[in-house]
Amino acid sequence: ERVNVVPFFHHVLDRFEMNKDERIKIERSIPRESIFLWMDKDQIIQVVDNIMSNALKYSPQDEAVRFKLTKERNRIKVMIADNGPGISPSKLDKIFDRFYRADAARSRERGGTGLGLAIAKEIIVNHQGQIWAESIEGQGTRVFFSLPLIARKQGD
Ligand code: ATP
Ligand code: MG
Repeated sequence: ERVNVVPFFHHVLDRFEMNKDERIKIERSIPRESIFLWMDKDQIIQVVDNIMSNALKYSPQDEAVRFKLTKERNRIKVMIADNGPGISPSKLDKIFDRFYRADAARSRERGGTGLGLAIAKEIIVNHQGQIWAESIEGQGTRVFFSLPLIARKQGD
């Protein structure tokens, strides 16, 4: 389905804020002008949910989570950033693997199965996008995904 991602992501974040603790703050940086691309809306909602729920789960309450959308030459890039404990460099590339949970003790107390980011990766790869993370221990984590701006013929 062809989607204007600007109102789409605002709507996803609105719903997220309504369902969460009122103290949760999501700082948004989203361009004003329309950006159209092809996506399965339900699947991309799932991607945002999985990344955002980690940012909220693994970072302290009262800390804002940041959502930033930028348009590049041939893709959009989304960044979801938190000021949580971060992930060590040796573990960073594994967090997208199925059932991988970086910090056994911390992860156990937070609950979860270790599937959220693996599912997000599968969806993004199916959309011909990319997903990756950057993190500094003790400072926070940034998870990124990109989706291509593809010109499709009518009727596709
Ligand atoms: P699930 O999402 O299935 O409930 P989960 O959150 O443990 O379980 P993933 O979302 O796949 O699984 O994340 C994998 C691991 O990556 C987590 O267990 C956690 O250790 C680490 N991680 C993910 N996001 C963050 C983050 N924002 N800050 C710190 N660690 C994170
Ligand atoms: Mg998770």
